[in-house]
Amino acid sequence: MYSDLENKTVVITGAATGIGKAIAVRFGREKANVVLNYFDEKQEPQRIVDEIREAGGRAVAIQGDVTKEEDVKALIEGGVKHFGSVDVMINNAGIENEVPSHELSLEDWNRVISTNLTGAFLGSREAIKHMLETGKKGSVINMSSVHEVIPWPHFVHYASSKGGIKMLTQTLALEYAPKGIRVNSIGPGAIDTPINAEKFADPVLKKGVTDLVPMGYIGKPEEVAACAVWLASSEASYVTGITLFVDGGMTKYPEFQAGRG
Ligand code: NAD
Repeated sequence: MYSDLENKTVVITGAATGIGKAIAVRFGREKANVVLNYFDEKQEPQRIVDEIREAGGRAVAIQGDVTKEEDVKALIEGGVKHFGSVDVMINNAGIENEVPSHELSLEDWNRVISTNLTGAFLGSREAIKHMLETGKKGSVINMSSVHEVIPWPHFVHYASSKGGIKMLTQTLALEYAPKGIRVNSIGPGAIDTPINAEKFADPVLKKGVTDLVPMGYIGKPEEVAACAVWLASSEASYVTGITLFVDGGMTKYPEFQAGRG
């Protein structure tokens, strides 16, 4: 538990499922105020709001599309309206689809870049603007991926978006460090969430992914959430501009294990 997160306000995008949901629930357990952004009413965000309240936090769910400037502005405004201000912004919303690069449509390219990279830019910009106006030494966390460093054929738009997140994070970290605003990324490896549901439903495909993880298992969203609360807390007060990989060792060249190479 991080006692300094109590009563702090965190905005989390794409928080109705998977990693975002786990982060929202974890901040609830830290007794924070959560602005839970969801994309689609069918995702039943109120159930997560109730779970956060039961855990001792406060929460409000706000529908919004991170590719739309006005929707992102409304998330920060929602934090101010409901809880007074915003201390932590977590740009988590992300999508992917598999297509060989020579067949990838401009529409798919734009859809993934707009959601994963432009959405994080808009969230970062609006949060930092608010932090500067209120003199807050806040924290921004962008959800990257191991694919900010591992190339990923058939997912060139996704890998490009996460490579972009790496530079977005490092540039903003450098720019706003003098103001005490920290900007970091989290780079998950293979995590058991809806984005991977189809792949992990196939035992052969699931084993193929698991074999790429030195620790030998698919990660849980809660293991990512544990890193998000640490990064947002004052325990990480001197940490800015990093990507914290939460990947069971996936970025450490697993094919070289056991003396190979
Ligand atoms: P997920 O599909 O459960 O979560 C993605 C969320 O983003 C969903 O709730 C979805 O509704 C939301 N979303 C999509 N488009 C949106 C938009 N335009 N506006 C607002 N919300 C939108 O999958 P997840 O694994 O929890 O993914 C969360 C983040 O973690 C993503 O950025 C993803 O790239 C990243 N990530 C996941 C893994 C993994 O293995 N699960 C690995 C590396 C990185």
